[in-house]
Amino acid sequence: MNRGSLHRMRAWELSRLLARGEVSSREVVEAFLARIEEAEPEVRAFITLTPDLALSQAARVDEARARGENLHPLAGIPVAVKDVICTDGVRTTCASRILENFVPPYDATVVRRLREVGTPLLGKTNMDEFAMGSSTENSAFHPTMNPWDLERVPGGSSGGSAAAVAAGEAPLALGSDTGGSIRQPAALCGIVGLKPTYGLVSRYGLVAFASSLDQIGPMAGCVMDVALLLSVIAGHDPMDSTSAPLPAPDYLSSLEEGVEGVRFGLVREFMGEGIQRGVRRAVEAAAEGLARAGAQVEEVSLPALEYALPAYYIIAPAEASSNLARYDGVRWGLRAEGSRDVVEMQMRTRAKGFGPEVKRRILLGTFALSAGYYEAWYGQAQRVRTLVAEEFRRAYERVELLLSPTSPTTAFRLGERSEDPLAMYLSDVCTIPSNLAGAPAVSVPCGLAEEDGLPVGLQILGPPFSEPLILRAARAIEDLFPGARPAPLGGGVRPVPLSGGEGV
Ligand code: GLN
Repeated sequence: MNRGSLHRMRAWELSRLLARGEVSSREVVEAFLARIEEAEPEVRAFITLTPDLALSQAARVDEARARGENLHPLAGIPVAVKDVICTDGVRTTCASRILENFVPPYDATVVRRLREVGTPLLGKTNMDEFAMGSSTENSAFHPTMNPWDLERVPGGSSGGSAAAVAAGEAPLALGSDTGGSIRQPAALCGIVGLKPTYGLVSRYGLVAFASSLDQIGPMAGCVMDVALLLSVIAGHDPMDSTSAPLPAPDYLSSLEEGVEGVRFGLVREFMGEGIQRGVRRAVEAAAEGLARAGAQVEEVSLPALEYALPAYYIIAPAEASSNLARYDGVRWGLRAEGSRDVVEMQMRTRAKGFGPEVKRRILLGTFALSAGYYEAWYGQAQRVRTLVAEEFRRAYERVELLLSPTSPTTAFRLGERSEDPLAMYLSDVCTIPSNLAGAPAVSVPCGLAEEDGLPVGLQILGPPFSEPLILRAARAIEDLFPGARPAPLGGGVRPVPLSGGEGV
């Protein structure tokens, strides 16, 4: 077998090779490290690389396999982790100067589970500072480039994770999603990303942005890999008081069952104004494809979704302003030296440590929560949140799943929206409602936009805990759009061809 092409394979394919002893975990990790060396100067998906750690973890898996131990299907397959998730002994910056040198003394629960399964850690991926943004340009360190076109953004805030997978630098990655940060970069980079039901995946060790909206989720090159990774990270955790006290279901067994008889609703409000024509066409084609495959597809109107974006931009900054109060230079993180007293030290630390978008959110949130305004802004936004959840609940009395574009546009150019916060905020208009409702949604590639040839993501939304059905529908979309996968493009940093299809 050609070891030079290992980085082009999906995790489930690597899993087979590893189980048959045709390749070692060490060789798999080496292949991805070589690809990182090749692509990283242009893509810049990582903040921190951990090659030595990855190789030592791979060696342990190879030894366990040699001893005949019963291993998890993902054992020995490396993963990249967004730099907002704590890794014991490995710097975790949130792409912020204020945490530039923060080395957590513990693992997030998801990271502990990955370590237990034996997935070597390749490194920590770039992101918008504290996950605030939609392009990864708000990183305090450097932007990340979209492997499809290096002059375009990979989306955000989990843009490093999405670009790493698209460029073949990692087969699997973790992201976090507060308003779309897994799904939108997955769409813009032509990969699969799932935002799980609130409470399905532990948030212990996820640096908080907006605690009532944040969820960690899987990102990968195909639905099967996303399902495999979700199986590792999902399930109750006593360390997170918002973790659902339920056993995680099996995400793999129903994956190939197709969509015959499944009832879908195409969200009318997300198919009109503001949606790029090629995106709308690709989503329409996906809906038609599902209908041909035996699904029932109808149009559904959800008028309250119009208010989801403004409500989110009250609730998320309000929670952020409270969560980010802890970065005061006292216990850890950056401290501005040479101040006369503690108040001056805190002011100077925060002025120096936070970037402009983070400061904007703290100001917005503090204002929305201030005496006299609390009820008018925060109280009203919470009522909109209830309305959105209620409207979804009613829609799911008629249909099982909803469909929309993931992002109104394909990948935009670096710098195009960075001076215009509102244009940037609109990138998440289709993804924010499911965070407000605490419900799951996946983005799966559904072809390329006719005007620019860039990938389009179809968003499939469902009620809480409907991940098995959502993933099954996404898997059917993969079969309908084999043409959505880029052809093999040789070396350089072009996206790796996505294979996928058969079961594990
Ligand atoms: N782009 C949205 C924001 O800036 C969502 C970010 C996220 O999901 N973390 O808040």
